[in-house]
Amino acid sequence: MAAVTQPPLVDFHCHVDLYEDHAALIAECERLRVYTLAVTTTPKAWRRNRELAVHSKFVRVALGLHPQLVAERAAELALWRELLTEAHYVGEVGLDAGPRFFRSLEQQKEVFATILRECDRQGGKILSVHSVRAVKAVLDLVEAHLRPDRTRLVLHWFTGTQAEARRAIDLGCYFSINAAMLDSDRHRTLVATLPTERLLTETDGPFTKVEGRIARPGDVRSVIASLAAVRAVQPEAMAQTIARNLRNLLLAEDRP
Ligand code: MN
Repeated sequence: MAAVTQPPLVDFHCHVDLYEDHAALIAECERLRVYTLAVTTTPKAWRRNRELAVHSKFVRVALGLHPQLVAERAAELALWRELLTEAHYVGEVGLDAGPRFFRSLEQQKEVFATILRECDRQGGKILSVHSVRAVKAVLDLVEAHLRPDRTRLVLHWFTGTQAEARRAIDLGCYFSINAAMLDSDRHRTLVATLPTERLLTETDGPFTKVEGRIARPGDVRSVIASLAAVRAVQPEAMAQTIARNLRNLLLAEDRP
């Protein structure tokens, strides 16, 4: 019998630089064949992340300015901008209107609008976007500042309504799904209705746990198992779908 090659795994949102064993985690992604988007929260983290991942086949680094840090770090937008020509992936960026960050929402919107305009101007970028309690505002800004097909968006840990999901789908967004989302009945119901071809997986590690320990990129296997159950397909088929979706996302972009 011919050996069956397992499809590679996908962790499209992981804070690889927040793990104590950053370099070892990159090696683990290679060993386990997990295509991992290493998002950053500040542009100051960019160079070190790039250095460590420079020889990696599976880890790509995204240039970020996290909405939860905008209140203290808006001045780093200049550095973010300077580095953008080197970056193909952008994240973590977006808006957070939760109780702890609501006060900076107007400033977050200004920063995110600048980020979107700059991505649109350069073209060919792929963004991992945070939208906690702010899906409408995120999509409003996307509509206002991005020309369709010049930039690809992946909504990370999406917790909006069905109507908001519909709107995001019409704007071409993908969704990266993590285990915590699938623990909630409401979000499971939502995930069940998203188009299969727009699904990706993520851990958002180290901010999520699996069996009581901090999640690592290889743990997207359990997300695939839960997604397969929600969608009533075999885990192997779901793994193949996710790998294919990543390929399509990367191919579909219009390079400038
Ligand atoms: Mn995150």
